[in-house]
Amino acid sequence: MHTSGPADAADAVVVGGGTVGGWCAYFLRRAGLSRVILLEKRTLGQGATSRAAGIVRTQGGTPWAVRLGEWSRKFYLSQHDELGIDSGFTPQGYVLPAFTDDDVVAARERMAMQTRLGLNVRWLEPGQLDALNPTLAPGRTLGGTYCAEDGYLTPPRNVTAYAVALATCGVDIRERITFTGLTLDGGRVTGVQTSAGPISAPLVVLTGGPELADVGALSRIRIPAGGVRHQVAVTQPHPDLSAERVPMVFDLAAGLYWRPEEGGLLFGMSNPDEPPGEASSVDEPYLAVMRQRLAELVPVTAGLGLRRTWAATIDYTPDHLPIIGPAIVAGEVLGGVTVAGAGGAGMMWGPAVARAAADVALHGTTEVVDVADLGLDRFDEAGNSRLGTDPIALPFPEHAPQAPGRLTLS
Ligand SMILES: Cc1cc2nc3c(=O)[nH]c(=O)nc-3n(C[C@H](O)[C@H](O)[C@H](O)COP(=O)(O)OP(=O)(O)OC[C@H]3O[C@@H](n4cnc5c(N)ncnc54)[C@H](O)[C@@H]3O)c2cc1C
Repeated sequence: MHTSGPADAADAVVVGGGTVGGWCAYFLRRAGLSRVILLEKRTLGQGATSRAAGIVRTQGGTPWAVRLGEWSRKFYLSQHDELGIDSGFTPQGYVLPAFTDDDVVAARERMAMQTRLGLNVRWLEPGQLDALNPTLAPGRTLGGTYCAEDGYLTPPRNVTAYAVALATCGVDIRERITFTGLTLDGGRVTGVQTSAGPISAPLVVLTGGPELADVGALSRIRIPAGGVRHQVAVTQPHPDLSAERVPMVFDLAAGLYWRPEEGGLLFGMSNPDEPPGEASSVDEPYLAVMRQRLAELVPVTAGLGLRRTWAATIDYTPDHLPIIGPAIVAGEVLGGVTVAGAGGAGMMWGPAVARAAADVALHGTTEVVDVADLGLDRFDEAGNSRLGTDPIALPFPEHAPQAPGRLTLS
């Protein structure tokens, strides 16, 4: 364990060694800062990041989502050349089926927006959709949108990729060190307090995934973000489920998604009625609901056992959009402190959120995405956002936990 001395100093400190903090520290170092310190209270990736399903969807419900997804997808594709390692991104193709006339109207509107932004997304008629996905119960859909470039990554491999990138570029990684608060001089940050002593730094980026509100609360920054159980399972393999026969599918109506994994299907879903809090176990009755819906749509799964199931705490924001912007305390911007959270979409948006946060920390602006509305100032006192909710998201709670500081994961 590293113990910081009284003269410990950095050009920037990043709090949280998940995909957002990890890639952010990498981008800060690559931007030319000599000394970047990454603080992680556990070990790299041991928050939501290593437990994710890995879905990378550019077919977003808002222009922000499309741009963040597209930036991240391109980053994943460029990683091997840039780093000599990658996150295992596989362009599997993603279908969002429509089941009702309203779904069709909404999907076509989304597709028009996505196409305007340069996304290669197309409409599949019902027969085309069934032909593309022979595992789907035939005749169930009214068609759907399809993007061949969407895909998935392997979450533990993403952790390896940023760990290698950080070590190679010389970021000072400090695992098992807890951030305990900021040190301030007037309205500006001068450093951080940690379980191993103080570090002086003119720039600090706060991440924390499902614990982001707790990280902010350590310095009286109110961040309306939370954590809630999300569960994932992998079926046994079956010849019908070989990867070339299974595009990824997001059953938006139910909030259920699936993709190929080890010859079977990996599927995941959140219970929209579940209150926020730490996930400590699999909700078996809800897993049965997930399995039933999957079996209705992919009948071959009905007879398959599960080889793995897990539940973990996923981060969310009330509008399902990321947070990228300066820290605010009592209505005033705190100089030198940037807050970054992926709103539960850290595989599809994480690198872009990380890069945008690094840019905002360094320059106050970024070309990754228009961040003018993505800061903390979009939320009112009760944590309600002035932005519309992203229509393509898992069914997370619509409200942040009322009392920040409730969710400290062990
Ligand atoms: C089951 C599941 C499935 C998911 N599937 C997908 C998916 O398919 N696609 C997708 O896009 N997203 C998915 N997600 C969401 C995605 O995993 C998260 O959005 C993303 O990992 C968040 O990254 P992060 O770096 O913000 O948070 P985390 O990975 O949680 O990292 C935050 C880190 O901060 C550390 N920390 C907290 N407090 C302190 C402190 N005081 N001092 C120091 N360190 C601290 C924590 O230990 C943690 O390691 C899924 C999540 C779950 C749980």
